[in-house]
Formats: sequence, C-alpha cells, structure tokens
Amino acid sequence: MAFEGLSERLQKTFSKLRGKGKVTEADVREMMREVRLALLEADVNFDVTKTFIKTVRERAVGSEVLESLTPAQQVIKIVNEELTKVMGTTAVALNNAPKIPTIIMMVGLQGAGKTTSAGKLVHYLQTEQKARPLLIAADVYRPAAIEQLQTIGQQLQVPVYDEGTQVDPVTIVEHGLTQAREQKNDYVLIDTAGRLEIDTQLMDELRRIKDLAQPNEILLVVDSMTGQAATHVAEGFNEQLDITGVILTKLDGDTRGGAALSIRAVTGKPIKFIGSGEKLAALEVFHPDRMANRILGMGDMMTLIEKAEKDYDAQQAETLTRKMQENSFDFNDFVDQLQQVQKMGPMDEIMKMIPGMANNPALKNAQMDPQDLEHLKAIVYSMTLQERQEPDLLNPSRRRRIAAGAGRPIVEVNRMIKQFKQMQTMMQKMSKGNLNGMEQMMGN
Ligand code: GDP
Repeated sequence: MAFEGLSERLQKTFSKLRGKGKVTEADVREMMREVRLALLEADVNFDVTKTFIKTVRERAVGSEVLESLTPAQQVIKIVNEELTKVMGTTAVALNNAPKIPTIIMMVGLQGAGKTTSAGKLVHYLQTEQKARPLLIAADVYRPAAIEQLQTIGQQLQVPVYDEGTQVDPVTIVEHGLTQAREQKNDYVLIDTAGRLEIDTQLMDELRRIKDLAQPNEILLVVDSMTGQAATHVAEGFNEQLDITGVILTKLDGDTRGGAALSIRAVTGKPIKFIGSGEKLAALEVFHPDRMANRILGMGDMMTLIEKAEKDYDAQQAETLTRKMQENSFDFNDFVDQLQQVQKMGPMDEIMKMIPGMANNPALKNAQMDPQDLEHLKAIVYSMTLQERQEPDLLNPSRRRRIAAGAGRPIVEVNRMIKQFKQMQTMMQKMSKGNLNGMEQMMGN
C-alpha cells in the first residue's frame, strides 16, 4: 500500500524516542534529520519538506515537548497535526452549481486514470446523492477512450454523449450540455483528452472547453505512482487552467506517496478524492487527518467504519447477531461472513486501518485470495446440510470424504474447521458480553 516506506521510516524514528524520560534539543534535531530524509525519499517536494521540517522543529523544541513527561507522544502529535495541515486540514466537498447541472470537467495526462475516475465519480454521485449524471466523451484523439467511456456508462447505466472522433471537442461539449439541460441531468462530467505530457495544443483545447462550459469544477486527475512528476503536472495544469481540485489515483499501489503530501502545498488546491483500485467503487473522499493517521500507522477507524456501513448488508448483520445469541452460527454463516468481509476489499488493507495494526508482521500473510474463498466455499458445499449445522459430526472419515468432494487437500479442510471453531468460540464469548475474545484477536 501507499506510504509503506515513509510510514515504516517515521515509525522507526519515533520508536527511538519511546521510553525516553526527557528529550533534548539535540534529540529533536537528530530526529528531524531522519524525518526529512524519509519525506524526500517518499518523493515529497523539496520546498514542502523544508517548510514542514522547520515548522515541526520549532514546535518540537518549544517547551511543550522538552518538558513533557511523554515526549515521544508529543512529537508524534505535532507531526500528525502538521502532516494534516500540509494536506489541507479538512476534506473539501465538490462544488455544486446553484442550478442544475453541476458541470465537472475532468483533465489530466494520458494514463493517469481520468476516464476511470470519471466513472468512479459517477458511481460516487449515484450512491451518495442518487444523482442522474451525463457523461460527455470529449477525448476525440484516442478512439478507445470513447469506447471505454461507453462501457463505463453501460456498467453504471448512465447516458454517454459522444459524436465520434471527427467533431471538434468544444462542439461536442456544447451539444452534450444542451442534451443534459433538456434531460435535466443534475451532473455533467466531461472526459477530456490527455497527452503524454503538457503541451500548448492540449492546453488551448482545454481552455476553449472551459470557456464554453464554465465548469463548476475542474478536477485534475494525477497518478500518484509518478512521484515528483505528479506534483509538477499539478502545478502546470493549475497555472494554465486554474483547477478547482485534484483526484489522486493509484494510492492502492506501492507508491511512495509524496504527491499526496505535496500537491496541496504547491498548488494551493485541495485533493478532493483518492483512487484506491481499478474498480468503479474504489474512490474515497480525501480526509487529510485520516491520511496522516494512516501514514503514522495510527489506523483509520473512520474509513473502516464507513466502509463497513456501506458494504455490510444490514439484514445479514442482524441475522448474524441473532445467531450469535442463539449460539447457532454454522458453516453456511461462516461462508457468508467471509464473503461480506471480502466485499470490503483486500484483507491486509482493511486490517491496516485498525489502530496499531499497520506494522503487525502477521499482516504480511493476511491477504485473502478470491481463489481461497472459492476453495472454502467448495469445502462447505461438499458437506451435508447436517454437517454444516453440526460441525462436531466432522470425524476423520467425513473430513476425507469432504476433501475428496471439494478437490482440496485434507489439511485445508482441517484448517478451515479449526478456524470455524475459533470464530464460534469468539462469538460465544462476545455474545455473553465478554469482549476478551475480541481483544485477544486484536493482540491486546
Ligand atoms: P486515462 O488515460 O487518464 O483516461 O486513464 P484510464 O482511466 O484509462 O486509466 C489508466 C489505467 O489506470 C487503467 O488500467 C485503470 O484501470 C488504472 N487505474 C485508474 N485509477 C486507478 C487506481 O486508483 N488504482 C489502480 N490500481 N489503477 C487505476
């Protein structure tokens, strides 16, 4: 995941302070040298790093840390606050037009994820606001771009306005906007052309589209994997087009993360969303405070809870609670649970949002392959109905039969039964109001 290197280095630096009764100015200086290197290595812009270090150092050598009984915590608190500040302090909502439609122009270099992000934003607006957007295909240079947008439109069941590749994009946008007004679409997203790098021709075209459409929002899509270049691109587009916000994509990859920390400070424009995967649902509102927590390995419970609320089926959750109380949790529920959790995203990413878990070595193995879930399901489906409800029946000969039926090795069947029993025991404890089981799981 993004920021891994930065996160590890910062935590290592701070761990040296832990347990220290007193911190000297020299300690702070030494530590800030390490933080500076960590930031530069993570591709944070040089000037941003310099200012950041200066601010943190000044605050840290102030009396609040040196005289504190818990200097390590104090320093981490300051770094956390300053990281949050550098990323913009609070989340910034989308601009809305006083009268529909709100017009959003998507700009960015080729391959940054512009078209995908347009689709993600539509999905976001549909789920959050039950919006009825129209997409306009104004990238006429890459024929595949129009097809890609059409496919996204079909997936999300939203109209896509296009006129092929032979018409001037400004004209296409003009006609598209007329259609949106007639059909009372509340949002219009314009997918514009990208280039491999910023050039005058592209900027002229984007400016003409801007002048005509008068968008409420010009969102620049930048690829966080491109490191320092992402910040330069943001600077360039902002100078030419006066963008209103940024979508930072591919934060699910192993990007070093510098762009997230630099763009706001360099351009003065907020990162409004981050892309965290290739799927259309993989878009998150950018919360600077939560991101700072993630970078410092402090988890991100808020995002986790929101994810759980969104992806978790309330009715299933209720049934589960009842089953826990009645002590009738069985193998069918086990598979349901795994499926629910899997919907939330890769397991290791989710676990990292739990405070204190980010650097847990056990997480290295916490990835759950979709294939594994299929295997588990095959094992459960090879059980008789009675066996699924009464796991105690599962003696060695039954286990052998199930393994053969599912086409999986017997050790896998045994492992799954063991996991199931652990889950069952934990649930019994929890339903009796005893949270020790949960705490044990969290490693407390
Ligand atoms: P465009 O040229 O800017 O329109 O870029 P596309 O939307 O075609 O995206 C380029 C590639 O990046 C595609 O393979 C997308 O699936 C991928 N992509 C876009 N956003 C993300 C993201 O947030 N995470 C990951 N992992 N891939 C992304």
